[in-house]
Amino acid sequence: MDLTFDVAVCGAGPGGAALASILASRGIKTALLERQSDFSREFRGEGVMPSGYEALKDIGFDLESINVPVQKNSAVNVYCYGEHLIDVEPPFEDAIVRWVSQSALLEHIISTNHGNNNFNFYRGHRVHDVICENGRVRGLRVTNTETQFGIKAKVVIGFDGRTSILRRKLNFDTTDFKQIIDVVWFKVPYPHQFLKPGRAFVNFVPGGFMVCPACYGDALQIGWIINKGSYREVKELGEEAWISEIQKVCPAKLSQHLEKCKGQITNKFVLDVSIERCLEWSKKGVLLLGDAAHTMSPVGAQGINIALRDAIVAANHLVPFFSRDFSDAKLDSIYKNIENERLPEVKKIQNFQKRPATVFKKQNPMIMLMIKNLPTLTKLSFVRKMILKQFKMMAYGVTNVGLKV
Ligand SMILES: Cc1cc2nc3c(=O)[nH]c(=O)nc-3n(C[C@H](O)[C@H](O)[C@H](O)COP(=O)(O)OP(=O)(O)OC[C@H]3O[C@@H](n4cnc5c(N)ncnc54)[C@H](O)[C@@H]3O)c2cc1C
Repeated sequence: MDLTFDVAVCGAGPGGAALASILASRGIKTALLERQSDFSREFRGEGVMPSGYEALKDIGFDLESINVPVQKNSAVNVYCYGEHLIDVEPPFEDAIVRWVSQSALLEHIISTNHGNNNFNFYRGHRVHDVICENGRVRGLRVTNTETQFGIKAKVVIGFDGRTSILRRKLNFDTTDFKQIIDVVWFKVPYPHQFLKPGRAFVNFVPGGFMVCPACYGDALQIGWIINKGSYREVKELGEEAWISEIQKVCPAKLSQHLEKCKGQITNKFVLDVSIERCLEWSKKGVLLLGDAAHTMSPVGAQGINIALRDAIVAANHLVPFFSRDFSDAKLDSIYKNIENERLPEVKKIQNFQKRPATVFKKQNPMIMLMIKNLPTLTKLSFVRKMILKQFKMMAYGVTNVGLKV
């Protein structure tokens, strides 16, 4: 049995769910396929920059008014080897990084679309192959615990993340910007005796650093940078060992807090950090977007924002396409236009993401001197200007993106 749609979107992460929601609300019959039956089983980032906040608001999901757990991070306390260096306040009022429960956000997007016959969500359905006719993909083969069927569609989008089945099935060529770090992530109860509410904590430690944002649910998320490839070994060591290692290099008050947290840590995940980009984002009738087209590293909390902005640009191009005469050649040129519009931002952000991890991990003497002198350096106007420029890029994006359809 094959079902027929205008658009099939593989993957209901933030990008896929947002795109399907826009298209369906514009009268386009859309199928959204998600392998997980429970969103919380898929580990993804939670940091939403102002650009991601604006993108969600544009689509109709204002994090300030919908019922989704959010924690604002409005300042960063910076330490070096456990010693306090500087507190960084946001340069603009709206320069807030929100930590947002992704499973709650995705459930919210799905439930908002209940009752719209154009929004067809297949929860717990894995795409395992493509339907090919005359060398062009015309749909997806889908399986769940009970059945297998085909989803045919004029437009097939792969928003299926860093392990994209569509990327693999169609042998998309990629550039891999080799990374030297992996990250151990976990959450602990928020250390109120150490940090004021809504503060992120950064600590440069020998051979690396830790980045710890305030998280909804009165928690602190700890991101502990480890050597690339050592994640299996670190995973085996287990949480008590992670905490003990971190205690050796963090401020005494946080160390005491972590001692009490042993046995209470949640949301453990060891991330194999990668920055990759497909050389072309479309092939044989399939367009890849989000992490499937360009895997982002967690540096600067960019992946969700970029995926949401991909969704908006894709919708801007695809919605008008359905009101005109349809042809494969026209669709291919639309795919190319979407890629061309998104590529400059993705390239620039990925280029930026390549640097800090390497620089702060290697910690050559010059870099250490600069880190230790941050309180003085950040008083110099040219240094402030430089930091502000990078900050603006990470917070607000590189190009103008707004929903136009
Ligand atoms: C540990 C970690 C921390 C991160 N921190 C941040 C952060 O703070 N801020 C930030 O912006 N980004 C962060 N990122 C990156 C961010 O999570 C991703 O860039 C973002 O989620 C990409 O969105 P997406 O919609 O493209 O794909 P994803 O969110 O990866 O969603 C892809 C979806 O496709 C589904 N899928 C995959 N294969 C199939 C299949 N065969 N059939 C059906 N469905 C399928 C998956 O189950 C998944 O739900 C982090 C990532 C990780 C892993």
